[in-house]
Amino acid sequence: MSYVDEVIDRVVKENPCEPEFHQAVKEVLNSLRPVVEANEEKYRRDALLERIVNPERQIKFRVPWVDDKGQVQVNTGYRVQYNSAIGPYKGGIRLHPSVNLGIIKFLGFEQVFKNSLTGLPIGGGKGGSDFDPKGKSDREVMAFCQSFITELYKYIGADTDVPAGDIGTGAREIGYMYGQYKRIRGVYEGVLTGKGLSYGGSLARKEATGYGLLYIVNEMMNCKGDTLQGKTVIVSGAGNVATYAIEKAYQLGAKPVTCSDSTGWVYDPEGIDLAALKEIKEVKRARLTEYKNYRPNAEYHEGRGVWTVKADIALPCATQNELNLDDAKALVANGVKVVAEGANMPTTQEATDYLQEKGVIFLPGKAANAGGVATSALEMSQNSERLSWTFEEVDQKLQGIMANIFHNIDNAAKKYGFEGNYVVGANIAGFEKVVDAMNAQGIV
Ligand code: NDP
Repeated sequence: MSYVDEVIDRVVKENPCEPEFHQAVKEVLNSLRPVVEANEEKYRRDALLERIVNPERQIKFRVPWVDDKGQVQVNTGYRVQYNSAIGPYKGGIRLHPSVNLGIIKFLGFEQVFKNSLTGLPIGGGKGGSDFDPKGKSDREVMAFCQSFITELYKYIGADTDVPAGDIGTGAREIGYMYGQYKRIRGVYEGVLTGKGLSYGGSLARKEATGYGLLYIVNEMMNCKGDTLQGKTVIVSGAGNVATYAIEKAYQLGAKPVTCSDSTGWVYDPEGIDLAALKEIKEVKRARLTEYKNYRPNAEYHEGRGVWTVKADIALPCATQNELNLDDAKALVANGVKVVAEGANMPTTQEATDYLQEKGVIFLPGKAANAGGVATSALEMSQNSERLSWTFEEVDQKLQGIMANIFHNIDNAAKKYGFEGNYVVGANIAGFEKVVDAMNAQGIV
């Protein structure tokens, strides 16, 4: 049995009931075969893959808090500190009822390679809780966040582990967490990113993941002699990533026509009304059913369906495994030429394989959505030098980083004979830097 297969078997056996984690490990290790096979003896002796797939540390804790009725609620908190070979652990905090250890491990594992691809000195980690901020009062959200940090503060710090936002964790939650950390530790340090602008946040961080997604698509298209001008784009999600992907798509001359949330989706043939979307989601924290109040001619549908709309480019920006094989078939039938992942692992393995077989250009999340964490690292730099850069400065750096990521994954794919396969390119390019650092640091 090959070393890769041995390690995959072991991961499945030793981490039962964690299908998303298995999926992420299989996807990465399978695409690393050419590199691993070229170094099999050394990697096996050093147990390199076992060390890559096992987190350095995983923390699981109780999060008790009191709701508005005086009832005590108990959630579970997680932080998986995956790999610190190239810098302090860095990765978001997800607050969603679907969160469990396997989800956090899949996200943390992906984060290691993504952070490496940014070219910045950040290791990989991820955290979260099964707490659902939806429908909770501000006071309840604050009570949860304070309790969460009252345990987590022991394990994080500006030079050790710097969490950020993710699904369910936006500016409000980061603010409450930061306040509690500062109160307990008595230090004013850049321990979290995605902070508000008045207390150490970076301009353009809010926009960074969505903007970065469009920058990398743009760079890839320009390299192929094409542009985003006049292209129809379908987007899923209606949160942070989706909203700013839609904004940048407009700025680059494309027309985004869909968005979605967990209850339904909108098709607006004239183009999504960005101001309405922001008001519904960022101000009112309401459902997309409200969209028709702003745009009576748009369609609202319950359930799933975004991927059935005719378009040139598809951007899944909601959650894992939201684009399956049937969706991929619909995309191909409708003429979609590019799929770029704004979310983490939104495309199932079967769907990815099908899209690639049919010649659809596929940009995987660990490259395509890396703009968020890259700008978080820029926020860390600004915090360290106690300065704030302008929006243009940050945005320009982001554009450079996304263009570099594209060329790195493109070159890595070519170097190993997989030209145009950006899944292989991203995994190999991300892996090589982490492995270099791990080898240099000995068996730790
Ligand atoms: P938000 O919470 O801001 O938005 C998430 C969106 O996806 C919402 O519209 C939400 O709908 C929808 N969604 C979430 N879960 C489900 C589900 N199970 N089924 C259907 N729809 C769902 O999160 P973000 O925009 O920050 O994150 C979106 C994705 O991007 C995630 O995969 C995240 O890990 C990834 N990502 C985010 C980064 C960031 O900087 N924020 C950086 C890199 C990756 P509803 O409100 O109804 O739940």
